[in-house]
Amino acid sequence: MSNNIEAFGDLVFGLPVMEARLSEPTFESLKKTIDSGTALDPSIADEVAEAMKEWAMEKGATHYTHWFQPLTGSTAEKHDSFIFPDFKGGVVTQFSGDELIQGEPDASSFPSGGLRATFEARGYTGWDPSSPAFIKYDSCGATTLTIPTVFCGYNGEALDKKTPLLRSMKVLSEQTVRLGKLFGIDCGDAMAKATLGSEQEYFLIDADLYAQRPDLIRTGRTLFGKPASKHQQLDDHYFGAIKHRVAAFMADLDKALWESGVLAKTRHNEVCPAQFEIAPVFETLNVSVDRNMITMETLKVTAEKHGFECLLHEKPFAGVNGSGKHNNWALAGPDGKNWLSPGDNPHENAKFMTIVVALLKAVDTHADLLRVSVASAGNDHRLGANEAPPAVVSVFLGDQLTDIIEQIEAGGAKESKDGGHIELGVDMLPKLPRGNTDRNRTSPFAFVGNRFEFRAVGSNQSPAGANVVLNTIVAEAFDYICTEIEAGLEKGGEFNAVLQKVLAGVIKEHKRILYNGDGYTDEWIKEATEERGLPNLVTTADALPVLQTQKAKDLFAKYNVLSNEELESRYNIYAENYDTLIEIEAATAADIAKTLLIPAAVMAINEYASVPAVAGLTDEMSSLTEKAVAGVKALEAAEGPAAQIEAMGALRETIDALEAIVPAELWPLPSYDELLEV
Ligand code: ADP
Ligand code: MG
Repeated sequence: MSNNIEAFGDLVFGLPVMEARLSEPTFESLKKTIDSGTALDPSIADEVAEAMKEWAMEKGATHYTHWFQPLTGSTAEKHDSFIFPDFKGGVVTQFSGDELIQGEPDASSFPSGGLRATFEARGYTGWDPSSPAFIKYDSCGATTLTIPTVFCGYNGEALDKKTPLLRSMKVLSEQTVRLGKLFGIDCGDAMAKATLGSEQEYFLIDADLYAQRPDLIRTGRTLFGKPASKHQQLDDHYFGAIKHRVAAFMADLDKALWESGVLAKTRHNEVCPAQFEIAPVFETLNVSVDRNMITMETLKVTAEKHGFECLLHEKPFAGVNGSGKHNNWALAGPDGKNWLSPGDNPHENAKFMTIVVALLKAVDTHADLLRVSVASAGNDHRLGANEAPPAVVSVFLGDQLTDIIEQIEAGGAKESKDGGHIELGVDMLPKLPRGNTDRNRTSPFAFVGNRFEFRAVGSNQSPAGANVVLNTIVAEAFDYICTEIEAGLEKGGEFNAVLQKVLAGVIKEHKRILYNGDGYTDEWIKEATEERGLPNLVTTADALPVLQTQKAKDLFAKYNVLSNEELESRYNIYAENYDTLIEIEAATAADIAKTLLIPAAVMAINEYASVPAVAGLTDEMSSLTEKAVAGVKALEAAEGPAAQIEAMGALRETIDALEAIVPAELWPLPSYDELLEV
């Protein structure tokens, strides 16, 4: 019997297909570009394009698209068919190397944040050979050859999320290779590659109920709704048996993802009823980001087929858990090994500890940038809501590793907790717990045995932004540490002694970022901000100005990840986007209250008016309705996001109280109880 796994990669123009369909020199040249990031040889483009087209047409494709990730946060595509007139009344098909390498969508409507005047509408898409092309079955069944691309302005200004991601991977590779050389690892041209596995949480609700909630349709979240009587209190959903209808959806989802080359691995029920998670096997960072975007899209399309709506918003329902996207990040060195795995010998362990210490420096120096990289109106509802890490960024290393860090700071060579001795580069580390032994879920940035897990990313966000920051700040920390070691060696120092001294210095300066306790407590927030001086940027509005600091400008410019102008344009786009989103939420809330919910309350009041037995309820509804009318007025008068958020909150409280007494059959919106039952 065949199974869905056999179809893995069927829709991907990956290395095996390339090898089978391209001439040997063309394949070798393309493979070199993919593996070591060397410039693409344009003379091979025609052959590659022709092979792609032939392959795609055999799979039923009629169109191709340059697929890119504009700053709107989702993906964008414009389809062109392969047809070309034969001038005899028929058509031939063609797809040239030029068309493969570069596209020119009319880009005037994509946000550029002032980088490009709209009259200069041009934006260019450029093929990213490091992420394989694939065929996408869209909802109408037509098939399109989808080519991952970057999206830039006329002078190469980044207008997308992928360009800085690739730039940040390059600088991280350079600094990693440099660090490797200090540890005697020289692998020629080979690049170091950051790796990513992003666990994706989502909600599924019934499509018919979704269609009755204008708030969900317009804003992705419920703006009203009294709490369900049974939600996650009993913890009976997490890892529970998966219901048939959902299991059928998941099977279909996995099938579609596998065909698209996504390494879908883990699926399970999440904490909240109607909430689920899918996690892939990790891959090279940029490919993994692309595949997370494919996953998000496939979730939506597959849900539709099964009569569900998939909600990717970070907080679709108040009062229950929201959805995140745990960002599992590690670093494969030029030797292909994971350098965040504790090694098998003292030398490897010294390298491992160097990287851990560099991470501390990076996160402490730029906690504010990590925070802003996950800032969004949706994620604001989640961070710090006792279900997700707080807005204060700290690092969890676990007791054992923290102990080792403290020993290095104190000068090395001391008793470790389990009785061993540690001298950098000389002694073995005590055996560290690997994998998922850490269950401290309250830390935003946790070491989990062979990788760091950044847990503050929102479910609806592209993982690109967080990883641009992560790559760049780690590159900067490596740069600093390498420079210091090189200087020490120059002065004739012995390697391990120099390393010990450099790391001790870094630890001293940055250990305030280490925290192994419960990140959800108020005491921690107090300690973090008052005693340790860590930033606590509670909302997106608080966080966005970080992009305008000199520190941020200098960092991104120094490593050629984003020029000052590019960074400024991002600030403009994100700030405007935030204001607009809140504006839409406010308008939607006022509209729903006025045209659906207040009228429902009035109907109920009328029905009850002649029944003395319910006079108490009638009075309560009347006074709440009056309050709701005033609440709508206040919301409509509110200006700016902060005032609008506050007014929405106040109106919601009144409306939810109304929902609790208005007869259910008069209430026009499906309730939380109904929505969360799938
Ligand atoms: P948990 O929920 O316990 O964190 P999961 O298995 O759901 O565990 O998710 C772990 C994620 O971490 C997976 O996507 C996995 O592939 C990823 N991962 C494992 N090793 C690495 C690595 N070296 N680099 C990046 N991601 C990794
Ligand atoms: Mg995890």
